[in-house]
Amino acid sequence: MSETTHQGGCHCGAVRYQVALDLEKPALTCNCSICSKLGTMLSFVPPDKFTLERGTAELTDYQFNKHNIHHLFCNKCGVKSFARGTGPDGKPMVAINVRCLDNVDLDKVPTTMFDGRKL
Ligand SMILES: [Zn+2]
Repeated sequence: MSETTHQGGCHCGAVRYQVALDLEKPALTCNCSICSKLGTMLSFVPPDKFTLERGTAELTDYQFNKHNIHHLFCNKCGVKSFARGTGPDGKPMVAINVRCLDNVDLDKVPTTMFDGRKL
């Protein structure tokens, strides 16, 4: 466990956040209908590890299927840099798109395949 603080956000810079997370923990790559199109790499954190610094006005909420997850994307550049939802244990969580963090060497982040298509 080596938790570090990172900055991240969307492509145009309207959405910016700070998050404390462990990049040695494998990020999830998922084959569900939305992740397979977006190519997201997700790392999950409790909401107290996440601070949205700006972008509330630019974030558009997209929901589908069971509406458990708020897929928040920037209405200017279209990038989904994080999502809010509920974990399997019923607790709120934030799904960070590791690809949207600044200065992270993605080749060094381990990944785990998640079979989200079955859900
Ligand atoms: Zn943007």
